[in-house]
Amino acid sequence: MEPAKIPVQPPKKRRIGVLTSGGDAPGMNGAVRAVVRMAIHCDCEAYAVFEGYEGLVNGGNMIRQLHWEDVRGWLSRGGTLIGSARCMAFRERAGRLRAAKNMILRGIDALVVCGGDGSLTGADVFRAEWPGLLSDLVAAGELTQEQIAPYTVLNIVGLVGSIDNDMSGTDATIGCYSSLTRICDAVDDVFDTAFSHQRGFVIEVMGRHCGWLALMSAISTGADWLFIPENPPRMDGRMRCNRKERGKRRTIVIVAEGAQDRHLNKIASSTIKDILTERLGLDTRTTVLGHTQRGGAACAYDRWLSTLQGVEAVRAVLEMSPQSPVPVITIRENKIMRTPLMDAVQATKDVTAKIHAKDFDAAMNERDAEFKEYYHAYLNTSTPDHPKMYLPENKRMRIAIIHVGAPAGGMNQATRGAVAYCLTRGHTPLAIHNGFPGLVRHHADKPISSVREVKWLESDSWVNEGGSDIGTNRSLPSEDMEGTAKCFELYKFDAVFVVGGFEAFTAVSQLRQARDKYDAFKIPLIVLPATISNNVPGTEYSLGSDTCLNTLIDFCDAIRQSASSSRRRVFVIETQGGKSGYIATTAGLAVGAVAVYIPEEGIDIKMLSRDIDFLRDNFIRDKGANRAGKIILRNECASSTYTTQFVADMFKEEAKGRFESRAAVPGHFQQGGKPSPMDRVRALRMSIKCMQHIESYAGKSRDAIAADPLSAAVIGVKGSQVLFSPMGGVDGLEETETDWARRRPKTEFWLELQDVVNVLSGRAASRSQE
Ligand code: ATP
Repeated sequence: MEPAKIPVQPPKKRRIGVLTSGGDAPGMNGAVRAVVRMAIHCDCEAYAVFEGYEGLVNGGNMIRQLHWEDVRGWLSRGGTLIGSARCMAFRERAGRLRAAKNMILRGIDALVVCGGDGSLTGADVFRAEWPGLLSDLVAAGELTQEQIAPYTVLNIVGLVGSIDNDMSGTDATIGCYSSLTRICDAVDDVFDTAFSHQRGFVIEVMGRHCGWLALMSAISTGADWLFIPENPPRMDGRMRCNRKERGKRRTIVIVAEGAQDRHLNKIASSTIKDILTERLGLDTRTTVLGHTQRGGAACAYDRWLSTLQGVEAVRAVLEMSPQSPVPVITIRENKIMRTPLMDAVQATKDVTAKIHAKDFDAAMNERDAEFKEYYHAYLNTSTPDHPKMYLPENKRMRIAIIHVGAPAGGMNQATRGAVAYCLTRGHTPLAIHNGFPGLVRHHADKPISSVREVKWLESDSWVNEGGSDIGTNRSLPSEDMEGTAKCFELYKFDAVFVVGGFEAFTAVSQLRQARDKYDAFKIPLIVLPATISNNVPGTEYSLGSDTCLNTLIDFCDAIRQSASSSRRRVFVIETQGGKSGYIATTAGLAVGAVAVYIPEEGIDIKMLSRDIDFLRDNFIRDKGANRAGKIILRNECASSTYTTQFVADMFKEEAKGRFESRAAVPGHFQQGGKPSPMDRVRALRMSIKCMQHIESYAGKSRDAIAADPLSAAVIGVKGSQVLFSPMGGVDGLEETETDWARRRPKTEFWLELQDVVNVLSGRAASRSQE
């Protein structure tokens, strides 16, 4: 065969291909957008391979260059806009030979593959075979030695796109939290009917080999029973549990589609329904959620995850050496990482093998540590008040729970988790209603006590409620330290669990510093950060911030749509966040904002003038179907002079008719309605960790407790870990990490995300051209 006529010199610019493969997942478009724009930013060319490996095998028009404007507006679109397919031909060497030839014909020597473990295994096989494929192509006369010379190394990077979250080595896959959101919305909806009619619902969710979606939706919705492939029930007797004695009006059972018994026989939803109907006499319905779980726009987490991972994938492509193993981009807690792809694939296969071998304990152990932790957290809330698990009496504690600061999604769920844990272990959970003023009310001789023991039924009903059911308040203990100490003694608190934002942090700092004067405060004082501003020192994540982000992106998507319909319009949207630009920046990343104005950077006239020029250029380039409205996010404290309305008016004036501008302020809407699933599940996991930490002080003397810096601490996500950081002491957060004047951490981990927003909007490039 005549060798194809192709350039023998490598193209001037590196060409990076991107494809999506396997089942579609929300967030895949965000990944493609980020790869395309980051590639262009790094002076490479980006090529989309349409329909997954099918496009690679068939070549031609199925591999097309994508330009900056081509991916405009993709962040908010569901599915995958470059298509996905299951390609049998690529499983065969003959198909991969054609794929290799097509890549060389296009001058593409690097590939970013977004898909599940099958797709990524295919990618690894392809890279391993690459030199052999090229020699075969030369031997068959399809290409010459000269033609293949510039392409001896193929760089491949994997992104895990899958709603199942079934890949080991990463906490989350692109798409899994969007899918979880769909499931939780559906279960929340049936919740009300189930409650009204005292009905049972068996809800089947996706997950053939992995129970992540089932487990997380069970946690988020307070399901009574859960069936997952990794951990079949030991017996069906548990289903005889005394539901009515527990006084519950609704019964929810979540079943993964791959649920099975210990002999690997499928457990069908209908079987569970029959058991509930016949044995418990419960009017039960079955709902199979099906493909609704896949579709729709990506949630906030999937948008920023896919964006940051897409950016990291391009960096990895450019940094790889011929010897580097194929990396897959993963996330641990809050840290984007690179992991050898085949280690992750192998670990995933090992879990499946353990399940097939009926070694379920090993399967649970080998799923990620986080999965097992969540599973145990779920067990705590599904069967609380289990006398067998009680601690000896001298180790049982009276644990007070208080909310301090503004309401945030997840506060109720954290309280529910703490209560469940307390009841499981024989502790007494006490809710302090309405913050510190509520507590000292008794001391002020008011007749009603605001400190009440919480019963499970009450807290169980908080599972999907937003805000704070026990009431929250911004006031600090310093307003009546004496009264606070008296109340601590009066109610015999052995520990206080404080859920809230910067005020919660300040409150615990005050109590800790008052320990010298008041013995009552020499007890564990633990803060679980919950604030939409995410400005608490000691953590990179606060409960409520994800709910807020989701609410904001819904708002921005709707506004952008209206702006797109009326063509050339810029919306300047004001976000909350106090003196921290976290919410504005992460929302900017998730909605693809043109620019983000934050207090950390401030706003000046030069910046506004450059942004007006940038917007004008942007609208000139922005043609055709992908034309979209533009969004600028401005944090409420970014500048006292350049207010949101002022900026919008100035843009309008200076645009001289080229575009229009409007201001929008979502205000308290940002605190969100029902908490996002991520805030719900993390609330449970973190609250249980806090309770375990508190419990480790059981039986210790007050002086011993006060001497331990971790007895007054904040739980937080720091990089790839969840850990407790002490408030006081030499390394304590109060001294080392807190910017008290600005009410935020001294070092904000997310500041570098500003650069990503600017790179992906093109604002960074426009600056460098000046
Ligand atoms: P999902 O999690 O949605 O199932 P997946 O990526 O695991 O996604 P698969 O159907 O397993 O989905 O794989 C998608 C495509 O990847 C296959 O159709 C095939 O083209 C390619 N592929 C999978 N496994 C291999 C392999 N071992 N060798 C070569 N190609 C493969």
